[in-house]
Amino acid sequence: MKLILLGPPGAGKGTQAKRLEQRYGIVQISTGDMLRAEVAASTPIGREAKAVMESGALVSDDILVRMLAARLDQPDAANGFILDGFPRTVPQAEALDAMLARKGLKLDAVIELKVDDAALTDRIAGRFTCAKCGTGYHDSFKQPAKPGVCDVCGSTEFVRRADDNRETVGARLAAYHKQTAPIIPHYAKTGILRSVDGMADIDEVARQIDAVLEKAR
Ligand code: ADP
Ligand code: ADP
Ligand code: ZN
Repeated sequence: MKLILLGPPGAGKGTQAKRLEQRYGIVQISTGDMLRAEVAASTPIGREAKAVMESGALVSDDILVRMLAARLDQPDAANGFILDGFPRTVPQAEALDAMLARKGLKLDAVIELKVDDAALTDRIAGRFTCAKCGTGYHDSFKQPAKPGVCDVCGSTEFVRRADDNRETVGARLAAYHKQTAPIIPHYAKTGILRSVDGMADIDEVARQIDAVLEKAR
């Protein structure tokens, strides 16, 4: 199964991708997580991307396309993947088409999570993540069952992203509407685009995605 999860920042892509990883035994490929790892390791890509990410703008297509091509060549992607955060521009979508065609691969579905901008601001401002296993949580919508302890790995350390503040959210939403939303017609044309109501609660969104995937298989 090869999927794209598409949607604005805070729509729930990472949350749903983590669940789909387990359910279908396919890997989540999050370009945001990959870039944050480059920043943390202070690699040349990380040094170039850091300020751009903190401002809420998009990192260059050139860097992203090379990064994704290398990632799709890794053996764990052979079984299927969920792209989370890529493509984010029309040139990235075109580069992905070319990459998949070269490999003789086809996407099964592009799932768009639709969420209002007002709700996104609250989702992003309350987001935190387990420092050890990366499981996502939220101050209001998804607390760990035992406060301060990760449900999945038991860690007591959590992190918040440098760009998850109300000031940067505006720039990120603007980038989404201007640069990313134009890829929706690109996939609508090929007939594999499916939209899901991302305003519903996490379990309901998961049910809607499963229903879409049952039909796509
Ligand atoms: P979110 O989870 O809020 O959608 P991500 O973790 O996917 O955000 O991305 C964080 C930041 O990393 C983006 O604001 C952008 O600067 C950069 N980034 C991630 N993926 C891409 C991409 N495909 N193209 C350009 N920039 C990207
Ligand atoms: P994205 O990867 O699209 O940026 P996340 O999956 O990180 O989004 O979700 C953003 C925040 O909103 C997280 O704190 C997450 O726990 C929470 N969240 C995700 N889906 C929902 C939902 N359907 N309803 C309420 N909160 C949600
Ligand atoms: Zn954990």
